This record gives sequence, C-alpha cells and structure tokens, in this order.
Amino acid sequence: MFVSEKAPAKINLTLDTLYKRRDGYHELEMVMTTIDLADRIDLWSRDSRRITLESSSGLVPQDERNLAYRAALLLQQRYGVRQGVHIRIDKRVPVAAGLAGGSSDAAATLRGCNKLWSLNLTLRELARLGAEIGSDVPFCVFGGTALAKGRGERITALPAPPHCWVVLAKPPRSVSTADVYQRLRIHQIKDRPRTAAIVETLKKGDYDQMIQYLGNVLEPVTMSVYPDVRLLKERILRFGVKSTLMSGSGPTIYSLVRTEAQAKRLYNSLRGFCQQVYAVRLLGR
Ligand code: ATP
Repeated sequence: MFVSEKAPAKINLTLDTLYKRRDGYHELEMVMTTIDLADRIDLWSRDSRRITLESSSGLVPQDERNLAYRAALLLQQRYGVRQGVHIRIDKRVPVAAGLAGGSSDAAATLRGCNKLWSLNLTLRELARLGAEIGSDVPFCVFGGTALAKGRGERITALPAPPHCWVVLAKPPRSVSTADVYQRLRIHQIKDRPRTAAIVETLKKGDYDQMIQYLGNVLEPVTMSVYPDVRLLKERILRFGVKSTLMSGSGPTIYSLVRTEAQAKRLYNSLRGFCQQVYAVRLLGR
C-alpha cells in the first residue's frame, strides 16, 4: 500500500517564553500558522518490520536520526505494528530555518503511517506521540493556525488569518534551536508579543491589527549572534514592509503582504541580495 502526505512549513506569528521550567524546558506561548511551502512524504508499507528512508536533500540525515524515521519507529513500537515502511522525503522546506521542516516531516509520517498501518488513531493521539519527538510536532500534526502552550504540546485551534501572502528570505546559514534557547535570558526580554491580543484579532479577522501584534522573543537573541540576520531584516524594512519578523529560532525572515502583486514585487527585490527567497500563500487552515 502507498500513502502520500504533504508536510507544510509553519511560521510563528508570535513566540513568547514565559519562564524556564524545572525540567529545563521553556514554558512557551506561540501562535503558529501553516504556509504553502511543503515537503512531500511518500510512504510504502513493507511486510517486514524494517523502516528505511531516502531524501531528495543531502542536508538531512537519511537514517534513524531523521525525525520522520523516528516518528515511524515510535508509532511502530508503541502500537506493536508488525509491518514496516519505506519513507521518501521530497524536501522543499529549507533545513534548520525556523520553519519546522523536520517536525512537519515527522507529523506527516505519523499521519501517513496511521493510515498505512490502519491504526485509526485520532490526531490528538498522534499529536501526543509527536510531542515525544519534538516541541513543534504536535502543532504540525494538526496544521492550520493554533495557539501552542507548554513545550508546544497544548494546542488550541484558531481561525485562519485573513487571506495574505508570505515572502520568506533565508540567509545562507543554519541556526540551532537549542543554542538560541540556551542564550535566551528571560529577565532581559524587553519586547513581548501580545499573544492574547493577536488571538482576538484572528477571531475578528482583522489583518491590519494582526500585523501590529507579530512578535518573537528569540529574534534579538539570534540577531545578536548572527548580525547578518539583523542586516537582512533591516534591508527588508527599507522596502517599506511593516509586517516582517523572524520565524522560530531563525534565521528565516518572513514578511506578510496582502496581494500576489506585492508578494512578487518584494520577492524580486529580495532576490537581488538573498539567494533563498520564496513567495507563497499563507494557508492557515
Ligand atoms: P524548528 O523551527 O522546529 O526548530 P527548524 O525548521 O529550525 O525547526 P529543521 O529543518 O526541522 O529545523 O531541522 C533541524 C535539525 O533536524 C537539522 O539539523 C536536521 O539535520 C535535523 N533533521 C532531522 N530530520 C529532519 C528532516 N526530516 N527534515 C529536516 N531536518 C531534519
């Protein structure tokens, strides 16, 4: 049997860390939404319990370190599945970019193997399992737009943002999420996103208000280590874009614009000095 799943990237409309917990993790509040930039995960069932993986990108591990492999193995072990799977990842989402590419691959593998192995688990059950793989996996299991709390595992669905486009610019470097969190000093945070306010504007569907509440407490941390990320954002702001923010732990900087024509114009301007630029629709549902 064969199953194919889309694994869309996400952006953070907000990312806030409330405090550091006793278990070493940060207590988070994030509003995330999916965008129309996705990997494709193809899955073939195997009669033996073997799990194998191939990826179109040399930038991700092709063995048990791959998050998609770990997702299949976890599901297989937890539910005593006797079948295996061959996983093929068609990688489109930039790696280590703050767009949850690996988490989304893991989530898509959970959804796909659930079908392939006829497990009939709910998305909630898959999300609970996904939390054991990574903080962004539960959100990616559901997709859409959501408020994520805790380590990212407490998900509340939200209405999709008003229709708009997102232009992404990824500087030529990767950023380690763990490293950025280690450098974060919670008492030094000056500007916190107003999570409750953005949730309200999403409910009202007000685009102009929504873009005023975008915020990410990790942005100054990543920018202090990598000045090129700050420079990139400053250059984008000079084009007069008001809704520009770093996603996750970076280094990708995104900008929201209302129309396809604005997206194309910004895309063409950014291509002059940044090699990896994408203009896609914000999906949000
Ligand atoms: P997040 O925003 O969730 O921190 P990210 O977008 O910054 O994620 P990923 O693209 O998920 O980062 O990659 C993070 C690390 O995970 C990379 O070092 C990569 O080698 C590893 N990895 C393992 N499996 C995958 C996968 N399927 N796709 C991408 N990266 C993977």
